[in-house]
Amino acid sequence: MDLQSILNDIAAEMAAAPDRGKVADYIPELASVDAKRFGIAVALPDGRCMTAGDAEVAFSIQSVSKVFTLALALGRLGDQLWARVGREPSGLPFNSILQLEQENGIPRNPFINAGALAVTDAILAGHQPKELLGELLRFVQTSAEDADIHINEAVAQSETEHGDRNMALAHFMAAHGNLSNRPELTCGTYFHQCAIEMTCRQLAMAGRFLAGGHGAPHMISPQRVRRINALMLTCGHYDASGDFAYRVGLPGKSGVGGGILVIAPGRASIAVWSPGLNRHGNSQLGTLAVERLAQATGWSIFG
Ligand code: GLU
Repeated sequence: MDLQSILNDIAAEMAAAPDRGKVADYIPELASVDAKRFGIAVALPDGRCMTAGDAEVAFSIQSVSKVFTLALALGRLGDQLWARVGREPSGLPFNSILQLEQENGIPRNPFINAGALAVTDAILAGHQPKELLGELLRFVQTSAEDADIHINEAVAQSETEHGDRNMALAHFMAAHGNLSNRPELTCGTYFHQCAIEMTCRQLAMAGRFLAGGHGAPHMISPQRVRRINALMLTCGHYDASGDFAYRVGLPGKSGVGGGILVIAPGRASIAVWSPGLNRHGNSQLGTLAVERLAQATGWSIFG
């Protein structure tokens, strides 16, 4: 299989795509990203990495960071984490507050905003935000084998200024006794984790610990890897998780910056980036591109 030429074909198709979706505009730093950007990278377990398009341009990973904090949280707290957050798809948008009231402040899963806030809050307890963010960056840098991965302070600052909804989610959980730190502290840490910037190459490399296979970095136990992949499949694309599973057949986690991390277990870690989003807040061309890649390679967890 000639992966490089598959990626070249996909990048050429995406460059010509007329409908690129709508770039997130809730903060100026994301609104100003060029909608024409498209990058894709496929990292094999042994670290070989093939790329096409804008795969060396750094973008805001946003909610893709939730995968890394979940890995840290499971490592630190184990199954205790599940007292604070569920494992069911929400069927609602990423920032919905609706279910949180109905379900007594326990978010449905770790990948909607409320759930990610609960995860960040859980690993923040007893630590300074700086300490935790340093640990998170080291985790990402180690799995990517690349020290040149940073947090964009301007993005984090902007998220804070426009963070009313996330603050509301945090306050709501606090009211239900499901927050250990002050809402400002948990949200501030969460905004910084979302503001991590990575290129497609770096993100694909960083995801190899979830792909496993010969030569992949061993960051967490194989059982936890399988479980994170299960959650990515069922909850990784908010209320479009079913559609992503149907079209792509692989676990994936999207972010509002237009990035998606996709795992082909035992085979590869894939990162794709195109900033235009579909109506569910997932990268429009990113989704299409990984659908094409799955078709061309035959990679699927469904046989
Ligand atoms: N920082 C974004 C928020 O909390 C992340 C959402 C996303 O990437 O889907 O609103």
